[in-house]
Amino acid sequence: MAVINCPGCREKISDKYKLCSFCLIDLTELDVDKMDSLRRVNLIKKSQSLMNHSFISMLLFCSGFLVMFWESVEVGAWQYTAAISSTAIGFAWYLVTRVRLLLLKKSTS
Ligand SMILES: [Zn+2]
Repeated sequence: MAVINCPGCREKISDKYKLCSFCLIDLTELDVDKMDSLRRVNLIKKSQSLMNHSFISMLLFCSGFLVMFWESVEVGAWQYTAAISSTAIGFAWYLVTRVRLLLLKKSTS
């Protein structure tokens, strides 16, 4: 018995199963074409969720930035700390997400 990744949901399952126990995909009917289109759908889903991540992180970064410069928050106030952390987290998160998107694109081409 070998453990494989389900082509539908990427969970680890036995290659002896006829049905995936997670997404109930019929593994006996899978051919090369179906595997290929499933893989493509998975990639699109993955890159869409990464795009969402980059959007949220950008929002976090911008709002932190705006709070810092628009409102005259005092250095040391909790608003200042919150704004700084929001900017820093948003920036780091954005960078990580961009790298992940790049790697994803590289692995498909
Ligand atoms: Zn599955």
